[in-house]
Amino acid sequence: MMKKEYTKTGKCIWCGKSYPDVTFLKQPHIVPRNMGGGCIGFDICDECNDYFGTPTKAMPSTNLVFKEVFNAIQFFSKTLTPHSYKNFHSAYFRYNYSKNTLKLKHWLSIDVFTKQFKRSLYEVFLQKYHSVTENGHDSKFNYVRSYARYANIVQDLKVYYAYNRIILAPEEGYADLPMTDALIDEIDKYGFFHFWFKGHNFFMEIEPKKCELIRSVYLQEKANEVLIPIEKDGAERIYEITNIFQIDFLMNRFVKTNFDSNYNIRR
Ligand SMILES: [Zn+2]
Repeated sequence: MMKKEYTKTGKCIWCGKSYPDVTFLKQPHIVPRNMGGGCIGFDICDECNDYFGTPTKAMPSTNLVFKEVFNAIQFFSKTLTPHSYKNFHSAYFRYNYSKNTLKLKHWLSIDVFTKQFKRSLYEVFLQKYHSVTENGHDSKFNYVRSYARYANIVQDLKVYYAYNRIILAPEEGYADLPMTDALIDEIDKYGFFHFWFKGHNFFMEIEPKKCELIRSVYLQEKANEVLIPIEKDGAERIYEITNIFQIDFLMNRFVKTNFDSNYNIRR
């Protein structure tokens, strides 16, 4: 008999291997640990679980990148004082209080970091999706698997971000993402997933071929739904994330920004 393990189907949603070729003994956290969320997934084998949590020489782990980015978002959503900013501890970011700048530590490439962040969104997405639907094995997620688990850069999946000048500050301890019937239907209809986490909106291409046909329609619908125009011709827009600093960590919302992006969907 199979030992009590974190599996329902006996097959891993990432590598596709089954018990007993792989084991499911370790608790797979849907959202990386130490973020306040305790949701445990299943059908993530120990090998794949380790993969997402282990850095290599060239790349920080997706789990840590996800945690660092959202911790920074959370931290800088509070008003900092000359003392409180010293509580910002990060493996990857450097914050300068007097200049109010946030940078990556010098040894880290923005491109690599950005890619790891995007991959982490896909990792969390599929684990959450599977925990709700038990349908994460579906072949429509093969692109997601190839990108998140195997770092396939030939098929780089596109992620878009909604830039607003107002962010509804997220609750401190809340660390989960919605996976409602409506969001699941959107994946089938558009090939996109709307990833909402800590007050920020991301739109991820799950099935790139489907997305290509309907991208502008979908993103326009989302722009109408999530963008909050503050003034006429404001900066609010949806664009593709190609650089992690397109996320407005420091809430410099009244500083004129010029984002270099192919996509600029407005209301
Ligand atoms: Zn696996």
